[in-house]
Amino acid sequence: MRSIFDAQLLNEPFGDPGVYVDFRFERRAFLFDLGDNAVLPPRKLLRLSHVFVSHTHMDHFIGFDRLVRISVGRKADLAMFGPPGFIDRVEHRLAAYTWDRVDRYDVSLAITATEVAETGPMRSARFDTRHAFAREPLPDGCAPEGVIVDEPDFRVRCALLDHRTPCLGFAIEEKTHVNVWKNRLVEMGYKTGPWLADLKRAALEGQPDDAPVRVWWREAHGEHEETVPLGALKPALEFVHGQKLCYVTDVVFHEANVQRIVDLVRGADLLFIESVFLEEDVAHATQKQHLTASQAGRIACAARARSVVPFHFSPRYTDREADLRAELEMALEGNERAGTE
Ligand SMILES: [Zn+2]
Ligand SMILES: [Zn+2]
Repeated sequence: MRSIFDAQLLNEPFGDPGVYVDFRFERRAFLFDLGDNAVLPPRKLLRLSHVFVSHTHMDHFIGFDRLVRISVGRKADLAMFGPPGFIDRVEHRLAAYTWDRVDRYDVSLAITATEVAETGPMRSARFDTRHAFAREPLPDGCAPEGVIVDEPDFRVRCALLDHRTPCLGFAIEEKTHVNVWKNRLVEMGYKTGPWLADLKRAALEGQPDDAPVRVWWREAHGEHEETVPLGALKPALEFVHGQKLCYVTDVVFHEANVQRIVDLVRGADLLFIESVFLEEDVAHATQKQHLTASQAGRIACAARARSVVPFHFSPRYTDREADLRAELEMALEGNERAGTE
């Protein structure tokens, strides 16, 4: 089943971390992390509606300036999410520049920065070119079960993870949707029309087979209308389970953290996960609060992720990319001795 999203690593795996998520059927995109994004042309930055920042270490946040520079005067809204302290970081970055004339642009830009606290509450603030990007507090929100964005077709969930500093991991979960086989409807003697929206809703809500569905359409000489039980229409329906896309980076391998990551990414169809060090350097990885390729593979394996893309390789392995990938693959196959031989 094709996802409604198309997700790609921003840079090669030794470059700054980041994943660009394009919507296949809309002119819209998401970005995970704001490191070096020079590879993205302005039109792709202008398509962003939401940016999800894991944490504000420089390799994850230095691209903030370029995004703002390209967006000012050309884009109206931008929502950004980050860990505790994120709003201060955004405020400080914006405060580094002089904004004495942006209020004159035809298109004003409003950046909404939201930070997610340990237990779920969200604090937000707005930075608007009309007020020279001065910080304006917004009402507090909450993220039930980590859900920070909830739209009809998908939700975005986050988990607060440990990188010595708090760091967010993210999951985009498409919701189950219903497709209608129009040719089957026609074979059954029905015509399509606005009533299909009610049919889809009844099916998604799990209404019983005898639930009445109003089947109607307009014809040359008036309106056709009849009531049909939902069960009789089900042969024309196809339930499509949504895809799950996850992004995890800059995390230390300890039991509580691993459990949080596995809970977040369980059943992922596509998991982007950092694989910074080789297992032979695990002590260094722990000290730096990053995963080894083997640890990343074990997490993905425990979460039963279907497809795994490693990234954020340490520059110390420039000549050993194949070793990092091989170690991850071995761990994915459940080989606990991966990378230790
Ligand atoms: Zn990093
Ligand atoms: Zn970091």
